[in-house]
Order: sequence, then C-alpha cells, then structure tokens
Amino acid sequence: MPRGENAPRASRQHRWKPGGSIASNGYVKIRVGKDHPLADPNGYAYEHLVVWCAAGNPRPPKGWLLHHANEDKTDNRIGNLELKRRGVHNAEHLAAENRRCPRTGRLLPKMRGAA
Ligand SMILES: [Zn+2]
Repeated sequence: MPRGENAPRASRQHRWKPGGSIASNGYVKIRVGKDHPLADPNGYAYEHLVVWCAAGNPRPPKGWLLHHANEDKTDNRIGNLELKRRGVHNAEHLAAENRRCPRTGRLLPKMRGAA
C-alpha cells in the first residue's frame, strides 16, 4: 500500500497576509463588504480586480483576465496587472513552464528557485 509520497499538502491552501487572505488558487482576497460590486457571497473580492477597477478600468470581459507581470499573484499593484486574452495568457504560462520564451520559442536556461 503506497503511503507518504502522495499525501496532499494542505499547508498552502489558505495563507493569510496583511489585509487579506490568499485563496487556494494563489490569488489574494480582501474583505470589501457584501455591497461591493465585485464581492462574493461572503463579502470578499479578489484584490487584483478591486485594484484594477479602482484605477478606473472596466471589469475584464468574459474570456479576458488579469495577468501578474512578475508572476506574483500576491503583488496587486496596478503596474503589475496586465489585461490579457485567456487563450494567449495560458499559452504564455505553458511556454514558461516549458522554459520556452513565448515570443521567440527559444528554450530558456533553467531558473530553479526563481520567483
Ligand atoms: Zn499570468
């Protein structure tokens, strides 16, 4: 009977940071109150969406999302957010996992431990 190696790691499911909590998908949720247009039923909203809309931008339309330029989903400064089409975005992330440059397709050097 296999044991140990496949045990789920629950420790990263829900982390807290000042002013908000980090959801299991890695995005930060902050308390905005249930009246907020971006709020979920518990009165929380994704910080990156709140920041984006507070800067005067419309909510990303269906099929679009906000990419974190430095790949840190907890860094929700407006300058770190880029509106991207979902398909393009996912292809770029896949390319990154394969260590291929999304623009040139060239294999990049391994960046172990890089953020
Ligand atoms: Zn992204």
